[in-house]
Amino acid sequence: MVERTLAIIKPDAVKKQVIGDVIQRYEAAGLHPIAMKMMHLSQSTAEGFYAVHRERPFFHELTAFMSSGPSVVLVLEGKNAIQANRDLMGATDPQKAVAGTIRSIHGASIEANAVHGSDSPDTASFEIGYFFPGMDL
Ligand code: ADP
Ligand code: MG
Repeated sequence: MVERTLAIIKPDAVKKQVIGDVIQRYEAAGLHPIAMKMMHLSQSTAEGFYAVHRERPFFHELTAFMSSGPSVVLVLEGKNAIQANRDLMGATDPQKAVAGTIRSIHGASIEANAVHGSDSPDTASFEIGYFFPGMDL
């Protein structure tokens, strides 16, 4: 099934100058960027995006990290895009991510792990609408 998912190339990966490498990996995996923008999230924009994690002990650190520099926010479209992107990203902790995944290659820590990807259809709808209001889901 053709789906859409929300991806973020996080501030650590932008600082490392691997935007192009990450997008190349999306394209090679059949995940086509259909919307994309570079933006420096404010802390409150990051808090709204990660609201589901507001009770987690790392919430403040996470939202500070996500607002520490520019990110690239994308909508990717492709076959089973949500799971396909999760597989391409690898586990949250880069140390545990399968070799060859984006996080295994570019992730620095469990927090600065290079990329975000929606984890379910409901999450994808919320996240796409959050950054691209009015876009078809
Ligand atoms: P994922 O991004 O793989 O879906 P989560 O939804 O669990 O992972 O967490 C969201 C983000 O919060 C992670 O990508 C990572 O940047 C950060 N994070 C997760 N766990 C921790 C942790 N234990 N300490 C610091 N940051 C964390
Ligand atoms: Mg998640």
